[in-house]
Amino acid sequence: MQRYRIAVIAGDGIGREVIPAGKAVLEAAVAGSAELVWTDLPWGSDYYRETGAMMPADGIETLKGFDAIYLGAVGDPPHIPDHVTLWGLMLPIRKALDMHVNVRPIRLLPGITGPLRDKGPADIDMIFVRENTEGEYAGVGGRIHVGTPYEVALQTAVFSRFNVERVVRYAFELARTRRRHLTSVTKSNAQQYSMVFWDEVVAAVAADYPDVEVQSLLVDAAAALMVRAPERFDVVVASNLFADILTDLGGALMGSLGLAPSANLTADPALPSLFEPIHGSAPDIAGRGVANPLGAIWAGAMMLEHLGEADAAARVMRAIEATTAEGTTLTPDLGGTASTDQVAERVIAHLSAS
Ligand code: NAD
Ligand code: MN
Repeated sequence: MQRYRIAVIAGDGIGREVIPAGKAVLEAAVAGSAELVWTDLPWGSDYYRETGAMMPADGIETLKGFDAIYLGAVGDPPHIPDHVTLWGLMLPIRKALDMHVNVRPIRLLPGITGPLRDKGPADIDMIFVRENTEGEYAGVGGRIHVGTPYEVALQTAVFSRFNVERVVRYAFELARTRRRHLTSVTKSNAQQYSMVFWDEVVAAVAADYPDVEVQSLLVDAAAALMVRAPERFDVVVASNLFADILTDLGGALMGSLGLAPSANLTADPALPSLFEPIHGSAPDIAGRGVANPLGAIWAGAMMLEHLGEADAAARVMRAIEATTAEGTTLTPDLGGTASTDQVAERVIAHLSAS
């Protein structure tokens, strides 16, 4: 039987609620066909309070020994500044393990009433490819004359040809597996260096994919169009910041941010990729057992698929859809009254029935 070693970073807040729910579903999905060997890593804000760091100094080395990483969320506002939690764990992991793309499906699931009147599951079905290691989150910049009236803060975006090209190529390849339509989101009118460069890379790579139709949109127009005509999007490629923002909008189009999953895929086959819901630690609802686990479960399905367990992954997806279509066991963010665990149990029940 195939064994997979999975590092688990439940993290903070509702991460600690949705990840156990996800593990239970994944266990049920592979029962009898594969073995998931979980290693829980107690990293995050409590670890920071005890040690002064979000993860150990050799944390990245530790992660390299796994087949995949399953993460909940990190962040403990207002006790620890968000830039500390983010830069202490998520961003270094993405960079050090060369997780060049962040793949984020945005899909209205059956039975869910989204916020858009007249738009159903056939209209809202897109997938974002987010540049994930540089761009606006490259961490380049600085502050001078701090605290004085002469203070200046710089946050520099970095776009390298090598990286943009591989991210864009990934998006074209993905488009080929779907409706052969790619939207590239930029802001080339205002950002005449980085985004004009991005447009040029997209045009160059497009020459290798004459069968894929390319649409180029400015990010502000793209935000409006996602609401007005979401059916005009299939695969979308965008920079780190733009895709971060647009995928939260996407989560809203799905009916809840708690439904949206993501895969941080490494470019190095020897390294693990990381799978997580796109939501954060949600301190406003943490500790009550009512967080929606479906985004974390969906991220788990993406992990199974990535590990080569396509069958089990597809069964988890069908069980998620059966649960939303049925509509009796949903968390409060979707208008239901069920707990996190009850939703997970319901998904497992549908798995067993399939
Ligand atoms: P958030 O995603 O945690 O919450 C936004 C809103 O969506 C809240 O009202 C929350 O209750 C709701 N929500 C989110 N997930 C839900 C779920 N599964 N079920 C039901 N409702 C859900 O975003 P935020 O409040 O801006 O950030 C909180 C903290 O999380 C911050 O510290 C932030 O930096 C961090 N964060 C971490 C990650 C990550 O670890 N990858 C991602 C985003 C935000
Ligand atoms: Mn985000």
